[in-house]
Amino acid sequence: MSQTLQAVRGMNDILPEQAELWEQFEEAIRDWLRAYGYRPIRMPMVEPTPLFARAIGEVTDIVEKEMYSFEDALNGESLTLRPEGTASCVRAVLQHNLLYDGPRRLWYMGPMFRHERPQKGRYRQFHQVGIEALGFAGPDIDAEQIAMCARLWDDLGLQGIRLEINSLGQSEERARHRADLLAYLEQHQDQLDEDARRRLHSNPLRILDTKNPQLQALVEGAPKLIDYLGEASLKHFDGVQQLLKDAAIPYRINPRLVRGLDYYNLTVFEWVTDQLGAQGTVCAGGRYDGLISQLGGKPAPACGFAMGIERLLALWQDQGHKHEVVVPDAYLVHQGEAAGRFAFRVAEALRSAGFAIQLHCGGGSFKSQMKKADGSGAPVALIVGDDETAANVVTVKPLRGGYDQPPDQQRVNFDELADHLGALLFPMEDDDGSL
Ligand code: ATP
Ligand code: MG
Repeated sequence: MSQTLQAVRGMNDILPEQAELWEQFEEAIRDWLRAYGYRPIRMPMVEPTPLFARAIGEVTDIVEKEMYSFEDALNGESLTLRPEGTASCVRAVLQHNLLYDGPRRLWYMGPMFRHERPQKGRYRQFHQVGIEALGFAGPDIDAEQIAMCARLWDDLGLQGIRLEINSLGQSEERARHRADLLAYLEQHQDQLDEDARRRLHSNPLRILDTKNPQLQALVEGAPKLIDYLGEASLKHFDGVQQLLKDAAIPYRINPRLVRGLDYYNLTVFEWVTDQLGAQGTVCAGGRYDGLISQLGGKPAPACGFAMGIERLLALWQDQGHKHEVVVPDAYLVHQGEAAGRFAFRVAEALRSAGFAIQLHCGGGSFKSQMKKADGSGAPVALIVGDDETAANVVTVKPLRGGYDQPPDQQRVNFDELADHLGALLFPMEDDDGSL
């Protein structure tokens, strides 16, 4: 026998039970985004490679070593599976001139691809919800995005996610800081690791972001970007902080928060938990006023964030939450040829009336079908035999799984079945269906 094929390492199947959790999460997400006026956008999963090189920066983990790039066999174009959504979103906005009549609040959700070492909370295909507010310059939108996150954690019942913020200032401020930082790091060159040494001249700010514990002390003592901010940058940062205080959202300023991507300026923020081990950042974002012009658009400010769905759901489950188990309203069993045809009609009629009906398919004895009905978790079994078929009735049998004390089974006329089932399943509702 040939060996069965396996999924690509680091790319996971999401099996039905988990997929139902994902669907419920996605529903919550949609309501939450509507409450803030964000509208959906869907971009392709593959983009021309230069988009990411330009938008993310050549000297970043993503572009240096994490991208799935390949040559289109037909025309030789270099293509890349998107490692994140901001670049594609901005590309789409510029391509379709979406900012022509003012700013936009947009969101997307979907798989991202990065060639990383797979481990808990770190995958090669993972999923993000991303939001981008394009054309907004003020600190209000930054604070609103942070408040959005706080509200979502609350909606989902998530605890222990703390907020860290920082300001990256503007590029001239970063340049002055960079010069001092470089001098400092050059002085301590012997202590740098290989990654840091490589980045020393290309992107020294990123060294502050190192995960190497041996570099922590060195990094703690480095010049802090925040000390280089001018008046306008500080005013923006103060504006964000004031709104966070007004909204009673606790935060900590983390001067080492510099983000992996180079197009960020001013506000950066991360939501971090200690409960997921090393992969503790569940959401990260900030301002990227330079990106739109970097990608050839008319300069416009922007702010956004992305959260990792796998990490958020892992945390949600670790904190003891359980999603709603999805069960049919009724499981329909039947036996005999005429009964089979009647059952098919009954099932369709009930679905037209809005019920979720699992029709038994594949035959088998009544007994085995009733086992399936029990196993489905449905509160009710509908039974159709030759008798019922001849009399145009259906036997409605409440199941133990659905009730502590199941009511008696009853034969119900086909025409009254939907009303009967409704009254049985939703006894508290009035006839008009409202509570
Ligand atoms: P990290 O430092 O953990 O690698 P990052 O800075 O590369 O994160 P971003 O590019 O800011 O991450 O992406 C936003 C969010 O997407 C992260 O905070 C995280 O929740 C999630 N994420 C990023 N990479 C992965 C991955 N490989 N697997 C699962 N989730 C991820
Ligand atoms: Mg990363």
